[in-house]
Amino acid sequence: MPLVSMRQLLDEAAKGGYGVGAFNVNNMEQIQAIMEAARETQSPVIIQASRGARAYSQDRFLYHLMLAATELYPEIPTVLHLDHGNSVETCKSAIDMGFTSVMMDGSLLADGKTPSSFEYNVQVTKEVVELAHAKGVTVEGEIGCLGGIEDGHGAGGDGLSHLTDPAQAEEFVKLTGLDALAIAIGTSHGAYKFTKKPTGETLKMETLIEIHKRLPNVHLVMHGSSSVPKELQDVINQYGGKLKPTWGVPVEEIQLGIRNGVRKVNVDTDNRLAITGAIRKVLMETPEKFDPRDYMKPARDAMKKVVAERMVQFGQAGHAKYYTPVPLTEMADLYAVPV
Ligand SMILES: [Zn+2]
Repeated sequence: MPLVSMRQLLDEAAKGGYGVGAFNVNNMEQIQAIMEAARETQSPVIIQASRGARAYSQDRFLYHLMLAATELYPEIPTVLHLDHGNSVETCKSAIDMGFTSVMMDGSLLADGKTPSSFEYNVQVTKEVVELAHAKGVTVEGEIGCLGGIEDGHGAGGDGLSHLTDPAQAEEFVKLTGLDALAIAIGTSHGAYKFTKKPTGETLKMETLIEIHKRLPNVHLVMHGSSSVPKELQDVINQYGGKLKPTWGVPVEEIQLGIRNGVRKVNVDTDNRLAITGAIRKVLMETPEKFDPRDYMKPARDAMKKVVAERMVQFGQAGHAKYYTPVPLTEMADLYAVPV
C-alpha cells in the first residue's frame, strides 16, 4: 500500500486503544530494521526523519528508500513523518516531497533552541495546518518545550523547565486545528534523561491525564521516550564505550500514557544504542574484519529486536491488517468539511 496519513493511523490506534512507535531513521539499514520488525509483529508503523536526517540523506535518498519500503512491505501501513519541523518552509518542503505527516514545532523559534511565545506558536502551526490539510497531510504541534538537545534541536535543560500547561494546551488545539499534540511532561531528548529511575511523579503523569481529560479526541505524543535500557548501555561499555550511567522513560510509564490518550511514542536513542553496541562488539571481538556488512548486519538485527519489542509493548502489534489506506486526496476532502 502507499504511504498512509498519520491521522488515519492514529485514529485507528485510538479506536483500538494502543500506541504507535515513531522511530527515527537516517539510512537504509534503519528503515530495513523497522520494516522487518513491523512485518514480524504485524504492526502499523511511523517512520520519522528530522531535519538532520533529511540533510544526511539529501532528502531524495530517504524518500526513495521509503518508496522501496512500501513496495517490499505492501501489507504494512507506513507513515513518513517530519520530526521537529522548525519553520513553515521546512514543513512545506517535506509535504512537497511526499511526507504524509509533518511536525511544526513552534514551541521553539526557527533557530530550534529559543522558546517562543504562545502567539508565535499558534500562528506558525495554524499556517502549517492550512497548507498540510489541503493536501490531506497530518500535522503534529508542540506546546511546552521538551528538555535536552538532539541534532542541534531543543531547548536544553532537564525537561522540567517548560512543562505543558493543560489550559493552554486546550486553547492551542482550538486555535490551530492540529491532529496530534506533543506535550512536555518532563521527558527530554537524547540518552541522558534522568540521573535515577524516574517515577510517575518525576514524569508529571498527572498533567498528561489532565490534558487528555480536556482534549479526549486529540492524539497525544510523547517525545524523548526511549527507555535507555541498562543492557544496551552495558554492551557499549563492555566493548570499549564510555557511556555515563543514565535512565530513560520506563515502559510502564509509557503504557500508562497510552491508557490516557498517548497514540504516538517517539523512540530514537534506544535504536542508536543497539546499533552502536552491536558494531562495537563485532569490531572488538574480531578486529580482523573489515567488510561493513559484517557489522552492519548485526547492527540492523539489534535495532530490529528493540523495535519489535517496543511494538509489542505499545500494543500496535497485530494491528497492521485492519487498515484500508485512505488516499491523501480523500483525507483532504474530510478536512474540508466544516466541523
Ligand atoms: Zn522530539
